[in-house]
Amino acid sequence: MVWSIKNWRRDQILQHEAIPDSLWFKLINLHCLKGLDPDELTRLRALATLFVHDKTISGAHGLEITDEMRVMIALQACLLILNLDLEYYRNWVQIILYPGEFLLEYEYVDESGVAHFVRDAASGEAWSAGPVILSWYDVINAKPGHNVAIHEFAHKIDMLHEGANGCPELHANMSAYQWHDIFSAAYEHFCAQVDQHHETAIDPYATESPAEFFAVMSEMFFEQPLVLQQHYPAVYEQLMLFYRQDPAKRWR
Ligand SMILES: [Zn+2]
Repeated sequence: MVWSIKNWRRDQILQHEAIPDSLWFKLINLHCLKGLDPDELTRLRALATLFVHDKTISGAHGLEITDEMRVMIALQACLLILNLDLEYYRNWVQIILYPGEFLLEYEYVDESGVAHFVRDAASGEAWSAGPVILSWYDVINAKPGHNVAIHEFAHKIDMLHEGANGCPELHANMSAYQWHDIFSAAYEHFCAQVDQHHETAIDPYATESPAEFFAVMSEMFFEQPLVLQQHYPAVYEQLMLFYRQDPAKRWR
């Protein structure tokens, strides 16, 4: 009974709130959606329709939100869960878009016990069980390999399982030991590269923490899969098993 009501509701939303063709054909040219086959595109459209229905996308600092902006965010969020489930975005509803970078204020205590107050400009933030916050300017002006929306939604997926630690809840056919070994080795290698001031193909922000490393690797996985596969093939393979997608194959 519960199952059928859930499905009836889902069918109603898909029937009455489907993304209009005019928007759909305009937005499927997004860089990260390159190479998706017709079946994948159909599923993405359905997921994005349900996502727009379920989530509240609102503007801050006077930013007016259009349907096009809503769908653009939804498509990028749903690309990550194309072969997973909308349940990965449970327990939160709000997405807040700022026109540009916004200020993050937080306090932390350093190793010598001194408290610091920090005020930083940010292009995105994801709160555990809270909103995703994005700078619209950065959503539409991304540099190659960057995608702030994918970055923050990857954090959301990571946070579902034991907080943001760079390890989401893995599927039954995956090994947590293997994930840990592969990601730790890649993280150490990448941090050493950045410490030695090597030019890197991947955003040095990934050195901030294992959680940031996972989010940045997820951006690369969807935006520059061939580059990620070339530099960190084992990380690519783990992400392929987790997201159940092979973007590098789509791009070849
Ligand atoms: Zn981050």
